[in-house]
Amino acid sequence: MTSIESILARQPRAIARAATLIENRSVASEALLQALWPHTGTAEVFGITGAPGVGKSTFVTALIRELRQENKTVAVIAVDPTSPFSGGAILGDRVRMQEHHGDPGVFIRSMATRGKLGGLAPTTLDLTLLLDAAGFNVILVETVGVGQDEIDIANMADATAVVLVPGMGDEVQAIKAGILEIADVLVINKSDLDGAPKLEAELQMMLSLAHRLDNWVPTIVRTIATEGQGIAQSLTALRSFKSHSKPKDRQRQRWIVRLEQLLREKLSNQISAEQIEEAARAVTSNESDPYAIVNGWLKQIRGTNPFEIDHLGIAVKSIDNALGFYRDALGLTVEHRETVVQEKVNVALLPAGKSKLELLEASDPESTIAKFIANKGEGLHHIALRVPDLSTSVERLKSQGARILNEPQLGAGGHKYVFVHPRSTGGVLLELIEER
Ligand code: ZN
Repeated sequence: MTSIESILARQPRAIARAATLIENRSVASEALLQALWPHTGTAEVFGITGAPGVGKSTFVTALIRELRQENKTVAVIAVDPTSPFSGGAILGDRVRMQEHHGDPGVFIRSMATRGKLGGLAPTTLDLTLLLDAAGFNVILVETVGVGQDEIDIANMADATAVVLVPGMGDEVQAIKAGILEIADVLVINKSDLDGAPKLEAELQMMLSLAHRLDNWVPTIVRTIATEGQGIAQSLTALRSFKSHSKPKDRQRQRWIVRLEQLLREKLSNQISAEQIEEAARAVTSNESDPYAIVNGWLKQIRGTNPFEIDHLGIAVKSIDNALGFYRDALGLTVEHRETVVQEKVNVALLPAGKSKLELLEASDPESTIAKFIANKGEGLHHIALRVPDLSTSVERLKSQGARILNEPQLGAGGHKYVFVHPRSTGGVLLELIEER
C-alpha cells in the first residue's frame, strides 16, 4: 500500500507519519495534501476551547463517547499544552482518556508547539484535511484560552464551544471579547457547583448586550462532564450552529484566509532570512527605502529576465504534410494559421509550453522559404527571441555593427519583428520580436 492508500484505509501509523510531515511543514506534506484533497469535505469539525481547569478534557472524552455511540469515528487534535492528549495533564485525566485507547474509531493527535510562524491555524487546518481524508466523521480541535490562535482555529471549525466553570469570577470579564468572537456554544461545566446560576446569569447579560454579525445568539448548555450530563445537548447545540451558519459561506471565508496564508508562505519562502536582514539594515541606515526593496523582491520572484524564446521557425515543403508529424503523430495542436503576404509564406503556429513551433511553407516560388529549401533542404530556419523593447534592441545592435535585415514590421500573430543576419549571430537567422 502507498502512504496515501494507508491513510485512506485509516491506518494510525500512516496517519501519524503524515501528521508529523504536516506539523514540520515539510515540502512532502504539500504533495501529500494535494493527493488527499479529493477525499476531503465530509468531516464535521468542532472546536472546543477553555481555560485550564474547566474540565475540558473530561468534556472532550465525554463527547467522544457520545459520538462513538452514534457510530461516528472521531479524531482529536489537541492544541493545548495542558491537555492529557498533549501529555501535560494530571494522572486522573490521563486515566479517563485511556477509555478510548485501542479503539480504532478514535485517533488522537497532540500538537504542543506554540509560536509557529503564521500561528497554529494553518497547521491545524492541514491536519483536519488529513483526518477528514482518512475518513473520520468528526474532528474535535481542543485548544486552550481565547487568544489569536483560538480565534483563527474557531473561524475554520464548523462550530466552536467555549467551556467555562462556575467560580471563575473576573475571568469571564477578562475573556469577554474573546468569547464573543469564538463561542457558538457556551458550556457551563461542573454545573452542579453553587456558582452555576450566577455564571449563567452573567453570560446571559453579556450576550444580551452583544450582537453578532451572523445574528446567532450562542447557546448556553449546562454540563457535568464527569457524569456525561449535558453532552448530547452540547453536540446538538454545535450542530444547530453548523446548520444555521451556511457552511458554504463559512468554507469560502475559511479558504480566503487560508489561500492568503499559503500565498504569503510561498512568497516569503522565496526571500531568504539573510536578504531580509540585509534589507532591514539598508532601510535603517537610509541606504534604501522599504517600498523599493519589496518591489525589487517581487521582481526577483517573478523573474526579471524579459528575454524568452518565442518560437522556432521550421521551413517545410508542405505544412499539411508536416502536420502529419507534429499534430497527428506528436500531439501538438495548431493554434493559428495564416499567410504573411509580404514574406510570401504560409504559417502554422503550434504552442509548446511558453514558446511555439512555427511551420513555414512557401506561398510563392520567389519566397525566401522556397530559396532556403532549394539551398539547404527542409529544416530549422530561424530562432525567434522575444525582447522587451524592439526599437532599443535594434538601435543597440546597429550601433554594434550587427546586420539587421529589415525595419521593424508586423508579422504572423500580430507581433513586431526584425531579422538579424546569420553572419552576425553565429550562423542562425535570428528573429527579434516584441508583442504589440
Ligand atoms: Zn518566425
